[in-house]
Amino acid sequence: MKNFSVKILSLITAAVTVLSLCSCSFGKEKDGFEKEFFAMDTSVDIRLKCENCEETYKQIEELVSSLDKDFLSPTSTTSSIYKVNKNGGGEVDPKLVGYLLSMIVINNKSGGAFNFCMGSLSELWGFGKENPAVPSAKKIKELVNACDKGAIAVDPGTREITFSSPLLKLDMGAAGKGIALDEIKNEILAKSNVTECVAAVGGSILLYGERNFSVGIKDPNGAGYIAVLTLPPCCVSTSGNYERYFEKNGKRYHHILDPETGYPVENGLAGVTVISENGTVSDALSTACFVKGINNSAGLLKEFNCSAVFVTEDKKIYTTKGIADKIEITDSSYTLVKADEK
Ligand code: AMP
Ligand code: MG
Repeated sequence: MKNFSVKILSLITAAVTVLSLCSCSFGKEKDGFEKEFFAMDTSVDIRLKCENCEETYKQIEELVSSLDKDFLSPTSTTSSIYKVNKNGGGEVDPKLVGYLLSMIVINNKSGGAFNFCMGSLSELWGFGKENPAVPSAKKIKELVNACDKGAIAVDPGTREITFSSPLLKLDMGAAGKGIALDEIKNEILAKSNVTECVAAVGGSILLYGERNFSVGIKDPNGAGYIAVLTLPPCCVSTSGNYERYFEKNGKRYHHILDPETGYPVENGLAGVTVISENGTVSDALSTACFVKGINNSAGLLKEFNCSAVFVTEDKKIYTTKGIADKIEITDSSYTLVKADEK
């Protein structure tokens, strides 16, 4: 098992690698602006083309930091999610209600694979904590049962959230970074003179501007990348079993949990990248598709008009049809298997 400082370092390295793979040439040009800050437990890298980039950057930094501190963080005592978790429900801000309702839709359409009520279960596993350990099967089962269908209800009128069990805790970890992308786009960029922006919030990236962008898919086993996607403006999110994990007796236990068993998903996947017009959707679906696996994700992806790239532990890359001609494999140890060939 890794010690605390090593784990933190590996997390930061993973995030930075994803960012540097977002090969957006203007970030290196003289008129390009690039700066990063830390929020949502990850680094946030902002690249801009505009008249007053420093000012826009500051607005983005404030917006994402507040979204974290005041709304989504499970640990900030001023956040809505912290308060709702502490009180076992309660009223929340209209902005959060909208996102929670979208997440309930994704929970339903994913057949429960995307389950954002498993905060207590993730806490029990302790990913990212100093001494993570495999919890007892009995305790896992208890929390799995509590997180089952209909675990929370949101009343759009009163904005009241009700929990079906005191054991529940909301966890925005699988969609929060995508929500940040939607907020940046709708609250800042759409109201500004920014012509191009690439905002990378951990593994979720917003590509904004009227051109194609190149985005690298990270090597699950190293620092480089294994493939490059050429994409029009959109949101791209990646979920991977290499992002947050601990090892015990030679076995890796990672942070994406199967809501049916309460254990880390083991289906041969190393990472899933989802492309959508909407950040909340790309982020939530990357987690959902990781849980559902290659053969069971097509319906969900189609329903939300998304494309995806699946990277397996045995070095195969599967794509949905929509993306098959937009990917270039850059690591020859990986084999591309197109959707129609699988
Ligand atoms: P991501 O990196 O977007 O796939 O999000 C993973 C994070 O979401 C984890 O660190 C947990 O906080 C949470 N999580 C784990 N499993 C699930 C799941 N099946 N559905 C929703 N959230 C999950
Ligand atoms: Mg996600």
